[in-house]
Amino acid sequence: MDEIELVKSTEIFKNCKNIVVGRGNLNADIMFVGEAPGRNEDEQGLPFVGAAGKKLDALLEKVGLTMEDIYIANILKCRPPENRDPLPEEIKAHTPWLIKQIKEIKPKVICSLGNYATKFFLANGNVDEMKNQLGITSLHGKARVMEFEGIKIKLIPLFHPAAIIYNQKLIPLWEADMEIVRRLACPTLKNEGAKKEVVQKSLF
Ligand code: URA
Repeated sequence: MDEIELVKSTEIFKNCKNIVVGRGNLNADIMFVGEAPGRNEDEQGLPFVGAAGKKLDALLEKVGLTMEDIYIANILKCRPPENRDPLPEEIKAHTPWLIKQIKEIKPKVICSLGNYATKFFLANGNVDEMKNQLGITSLHGKARVMEFEGIKIKLIPLFHPAAIIYNQKLIPLWEADMEIVRRLACPTLKNEGAKKEVVQKSLF
């Protein structure tokens, strides 16, 4: 079965309005990976267009980035009923599509948003190992260089924008983490960020 058929074989596909693939710049060096589409995403067929998406846009703007600098996709391509947590079998069936996207985009930096995306990468795509990984609270902002599906990436776990809506105290942490993202994705940096990159390049 190819990756599209696999997604279509899951129960959540039958209940969703749209398959939500991704949006942003296919040539971006920075890829964000979220958890699953919510109601708005399901209706529009695009990721991060609801409340969490608006928060993400605002957070990106604060650090001088826009959708043109990134590509964004999710672990699950269909909305789970009532936005419940993704099930291991769903993650297994939906992530081959995500892996295909990563192979096409070849990002230098992957920002995993929240626990599910972070654990998926830390477990190197082995869904059964996800439960053994640390959570976002202890890992956010800690970059790690890894090989994922044959592609060398720098993984940076970030708090999920939906968590930031409920806990504004996370904003300074998110901004500090995003500075790390900017440094690691140095060739794409513009303006102010580009200047910082010259100073900080030697750190990596
Ligand atoms: N939350 C996610 O993780 N992804 C979306 O697309 C929307 C909200």
